[in-house]
Amino acid sequence: MQPDERALRQAIIDKCRWMNASGLNQGTSGNISARFGARMLITPSAVPYDAMEPRMIASMPIEDEHGAWDGPRKPSSEWRFHLDILRARPEAGAIVHTHAPYCTSLAIARRDIPPVHYMIACFGGSDVRCSDYATFGTEALSRAALEALEGRKACLLANHGMIAVGADLEQAMWLAVELEALARQYWTALQIGGPVLLSEAEIAEALAAFSGYGLQRAETRTP
Ligand SMILES: [Zn+2]
Repeated sequence: MQPDERALRQAIIDKCRWMNASGLNQGTSGNISARFGARMLITPSAVPYDAMEPRMIASMPIEDEHGAWDGPRKPSSEWRFHLDILRARPEAGAIVHTHAPYCTSLAIARRDIPPVHYMIACFGGSDVRCSDYATFGTEALSRAALEALEGRKACLLANHGMIAVGADLEQAMWLAVELEALARQYWTALQIGGPVLLSEAEIAEALAAFSGYGLQRAETRTP
């Protein structure tokens, strides 16, 4: 294995451990993938993150839709939406999927996240959508996720969790953290009479400011 591939595999494991330690995810319910040339590296199924080693990360050809894989362990049961997102979104370099508590609570209530805070613009528009429901691991879930992700860098998965899509692992994890913060803020505002929403014009201004400002690497860094 080349050093850069080994480093990316280790980075995936480090992010998995960090997302559990931070409370963003629990157990092995989340999974992370990253683009490595024409292949997708993805966490294996049912291996505790503390026991995970770089060689256990599964590798799949991105252009093969039938789920061919290499490795000592089979890929996460959610490999299909990871693969389909990388195929459909050439700008995507990494995907974080978690059952983060507040995102999942809103997804259980089948709520989109409306423009409650200007940070929603980080996700590409004035909302973060909740997908239709489909059984985990299915092609139907993959289709529902892609639809909810249209023009966005994240979505909620109905009665399931969330997906964040970044240019690289750092950005995908940063977006996952920001989405959970937004979900928590929205949930909290609902307890005290409901949010006052920002207008389309106010979100457009935030979007313009973000594109001028750029998403600096230093800001998107998680340990
Ligand atoms: Zn899941």
